[in-house]
Amino acid sequence: MDNKPIYLSLSQQSGFEQGYIQKALETNWITSGGPNVDEFENTIESYLEKELFVTALNSGTSAIHLALILLDIKAGDEVICQSMTFSASVNPVLYQSAIPIFVDSESETWNICPKNLEIAIKDRIKKGKKPKAIIAVHLYGNPYKIDEIHAIAEKYDIPIIEDSAEALGSSYKGKKCGTFGTFGILSFNGNKIITTSSGGALISNSIDLKKRAIFYATQSKDEAIHYQHSEIGYNYRMSNICAGIGLGQVQILDHNVIARRENHFFYKNIFSDIKSVRLFEVLNEDYYSNYWLNAILIEPNIKKKIDRESLRIAFKNQNIETRPLWKPMHLQTIFQKYPYYGNKIAKGLFEKGLCLPSGSNLTDLDKKRIKTVLDDFFNRT
Ligand SMILES: *Cc1c(COP(=O)(O)O)cnc(C)c1O
Repeated sequence: MDNKPIYLSLSQQSGFEQGYIQKALETNWITSGGPNVDEFENTIESYLEKELFVTALNSGTSAIHLALILLDIKAGDEVICQSMTFSASVNPVLYQSAIPIFVDSESETWNICPKNLEIAIKDRIKKGKKPKAIIAVHLYGNPYKIDEIHAIAEKYDIPIIEDSAEALGSSYKGKKCGTFGTFGILSFNGNKIITTSSGGALISNSIDLKKRAIFYATQSKDEAIHYQHSEIGYNYRMSNICAGIGLGQVQILDHNVIARRENHFFYKNIFSDIKSVRLFEVLNEDYYSNYWLNAILIEPNIKKKIDRESLRIAFKNQNIETRPLWKPMHLQTIFQKYPYYGNKIAKGLFEKGLCLPSGSNLTDLDKKRIKTVLDDFFNRT
């Protein structure tokens, strides 16, 4: 049998990328900023269906960093972070020498837990410092409890940075993810739902914030004939070549969302009668997920040799890539000294959870091979 590798999440080309890159080369727009960047920003703005301003950057991580800078987060300030996420959600807090305060997940959306969020805010205020921002994440494309979390943020008047890196194409009550926070961020890294090879975007609600984001992203050049600087600058702007790839990619964004959602229903069908497995799903019809990655929780059964690791190995033996869920940040060496509010929900998800191949280009043959592994694994006695 054909044993070529099946990956967790591969990028897929539309075929239109080349034309935009070619034009950029021909017109010599090959540096940061340019017509492709403008057009890419406009396209994402109209996709988000809300009066917002998109600033294209060289990564999602830089978008989070700029959001923190625009919120005036400085050394010693506290920022509440969802613990269950990728490290890029939190690293920029340390770039600012600020202090991450980690909060556990709830077990329904696997995202930041409203109860523990409020406990954390109250306790930090009691200890003398009100958190200056909250970084909430739509894990694997699945929206967090937006109404609850935003109500708490409003009650205490704390801005939200909405990490929508994995959730372009997801929505909540009909509104697109990325549009809810004081700032939203997107990632166009190679493994995300669409890519610019490497890239990201900052979503803000005023042209003034966009101008300031571009100022910081292009080395903070003051208005002067010579190079004059009164603030720290960064080299974070998206290049016109990368934006050309993005313009080709947005044309298959809807297709990719549909394909990833189809993968989800493929898995749902398989797991519907496997009692020891819970497939990660949206809570109710208010939530619409792009199902960027499909994840499952496996209830271990020692007698039947069933657990997360043995399933991972069964896939690996067939050249199929799977990966444990994000290891929570409060359990990481670099972050473990910072405060944590919660119990063991995120830790439990990490211990039992596995991400399955979810690319928008999985073929029927790929799915057949995946199903065979799962059937063999769970039917053994
Ligand atoms: C990918 C990702 C990021 C970072 O995006 P980059 O473009 O890779 O810098 C941030 N947060 C989450 C949750 C991500 O998955």
